[in-house]
Amino acid sequence: MLPAILPYNTYNTAMKAHTNPQSDIFAYGLQSAEGVQSYADLMNSLKQPDYRAKQLAKWLWVRDANSYDDMTDLPADLRTRLAQFAPLKRAQVQQVQHSTDGTRKYLLCFADGTCVETVGLPSQGSSGKRLTVCISSQAGCALGCTFCATGQGGLIRNLTPGEIAEQVHIVGSDFNQRVSNVVVMGQGEPFQNYSATIAGLRILNAAENIGGLGIGARHITISTSGIITGIKRLATEPEQFTLAVSLHSAQQATRDKLMPGLKGQTLDQLATALQSHYQQAKRRPSLEYSLIAGINDDKAEIAALVQFARSTGAHVNLIPLNESVQSTFQPANQKATMEIAEALRSNGIEVSIRRRRGADIAAACGQLAQERK
Ligand code: SAH
Ligand code: SF4
Repeated sequence: MLPAILPYNTYNTAMKAHTNPQSDIFAYGLQSAEGVQSYADLMNSLKQPDYRAKQLAKWLWVRDANSYDDMTDLPADLRTRLAQFAPLKRAQVQQVQHSTDGTRKYLLCFADGTCVETVGLPSQGSSGKRLTVCISSQAGCALGCTFCATGQGGLIRNLTPGEIAEQVHIVGSDFNQRVSNVVVMGQGEPFQNYSATIAGLRILNAAENIGGLGIGARHITISTSGIITGIKRLATEPEQFTLAVSLHSAQQATRDKLMPGLKGQTLDQLATALQSHYQQAKRRPSLEYSLIAGINDDKAEIAALVQFARSTGAHVNLIPLNESVQSTFQPANQKATMEIAEALRSNGIEVSIRRRRGADIAAACGQLAQERK
């Protein structure tokens, strides 16, 4: 059975219990980060040398152990203590749906019964086969964007670093293929679960010989609705993770209606944060813009978008709006989308139009709502 959605105020208590470092091995990261202990911290607390942490990480992320008993190069008494101190309970694949275009959508459930959706998107790139995994950073989302099915269900809880990384691991194994790209565009707002998200992405980014999945930071994209503190903080991290910001309107009144959870975080503040991110990270951010008929596709909206993209040096990704049962918004049609892309280009803005994937299994952005089938 899928979990009931907890009201927001019960979430902190639920989360405290869950991130208790003694509750679960997936609450730890490869390296320590604010609020996240590392496998080495765990080994130290068990009076073990640091190299045990590397052995443990390799078993978890490279060698795919399902229990501590599989970890034959760890002493038996250590395995017993680890099982008591930080139980290893892998996420279970509750359901997989296959799209005719090759996309697969997974319902993954963690030990406490919380479930999230994760999507695998295979494609053919210029340098061979690619597999992109779209992961969730939270179960549900507190932001309540009016066009997004996830947002309509509210927040269930934050995911831990291991739960974030495990989604990629599971999809890679199911496709039996190396994961080339990761996008944090599933359920949740990554910057409302900042430390665990970064710690999870570091497991993905670390080299295999230290127990990571070896995915390049530039191939890992974090999408945020525009949480200013998170954008500023990301620029201070040593890795060059790619940043995408969901803009959807460059006019304050329209954006406030579409993204009511962001109240108080203005477009001016967002532009300033993106400008300094660009200067520090030396990488163009991208702006996600879902075209919604009659809402953000008129001349004034497009002029505001041109101005915003210019001032931030950003690339614009036009996304066809994915319909969800919870909202009455309609996507702009193909012809209008092409015209808007052309208008942006002629104003010197770099634009791409995102292809729709997995539409027949409701696997696209904003459709991950764990509907009961
Ligand atoms: N919370 C983050 C990341 C998850 S949402 C964010 O908002 O950026 C991933 C992307 O899906 C975002 O760009 C979001 O705006 C977009 N999205 C949400 N609902 C959508 C819908 N119905 N159609 C198209 N894109 C949608
Ligand atoms: Fe949350 Fe992103 Fe959906 Fe908004 S679009 S409700 S921030 S998941």
